[in-house]
Amino acid sequence: MAKQYLVITGIPPYDGEYPIDDSGFTQKEYHFIKTVSGVRAGELQEAIQAGDVAVGVALTAITLERNGKVPMLSLLWEAKEECITVVAKCAQCGHNNELTEAGVIPESCESCGAKLEGQEEDPDRPLATQTSGGPESGPGASASESAS
Ligand SMILES: [Zn+2]
Repeated sequence: MAKQYLVITGIPPYDGEYPIDDSGFTQKEYHFIKTVSGVRAGELQEAIQAGDVAVGVALTAITLERNGKVPMLSLLWEAKEECITVVAKCAQCGHNNELTEAGVIPESCESCGAKLEGQEEDPDRPLATQTSGGPESGPGASASESAS
């Protein structure tokens, strides 16, 4: 299972890697998220997937606080987007794999190719299941009709 980390670069007091505790938020943390971003608990997942910046700042602050830091929101707001990333650390080689825009863990490690398991929601893949081509008519099933 690939453990997720918050990686901060270029925000001096906070530069480093912080393990993300995905066991859920406390009431206080939900309230904090709402205070910062206006997003309520029930809307949080959608906001994360939509890349809501204010939610990102709030979650960054929560992760920092859980790791013993005193987050200063103003510093986080002023940081460039690329200063704050979330990665899935490969259990095999330790490579930090960046999550997709929607916050999804990539399927395999881009460094060693190991499978990065631990996706909670496995989005069904409707694309791969259906191949073109209709019923199981073998080649030549209709050929005899037209031949004459
Ligand atoms: Zn790897």
